[in-house]
Amino acid sequence: MCLFCKIVNREIPSNHVQENEDFFAFHDINPKAPVHVLVIPKIHYNSFNDISGDLMGKMGTFMQEVAKTVGVDQSGYRIISNIGENGGQEVKHLHFHLLGGAKLKWGHFSDADPKDFF
Ligand code: AMP
Repeated sequence: MCLFCKIVNREIPSNHVQENEDFFAFHDINPKAPVHVLVIPKIHYNSFNDISGDLMGKMGTFMQEVAKTVGVDQSGYRIISNIGENGGQEVKHLHFHLLGGAKLKWGHFSDADPKDFF
C-alpha cells in the first residue's frame, strides 16, 4: 500500500484538513508556502493521467471547498499536480498541491531554455 493510501487509512498520521466520501485533504509535511495542502482521492490512482473527467470534476469542487476552509479562496491560491518523471512526481498517488497564504512567485521550472522548443 502506498504512503498516501496509508494516510487515508490512518495507518500513518497526517495533519488533517477535510474529507468527504471520495477525497482527503491534509497539510504538506514540507510546506512550500504558508498554506500548502495536499488533496488526494481516497481510491488509488497513480497520477492525473489516470483519473476520469467525472471524478476530476468532483475533485475540483472539493478543492474549492478546501480553499475556503483554509481561507485562501478570496486572497488567491495555486493548484499544481506533478505528473511522472519530468513533472517531478515523488509520491505515485494522484495529488494536487493547493498553495497560498502569500503572494506566490512564478518559478524557474527547468534548466532547458523554453525558446529551444519553438
Ligand atoms: P510530489 O513531489 O508532487 O510527488 O509531492 C509529494 C509531496 O508529498 C511533497 O510536497 C512532500 O512534502 C509531501 N509529503 C511526503 N510525505 C508526506 C507526509 N507523510 N505527510 C504530508 N506530506 C507528505
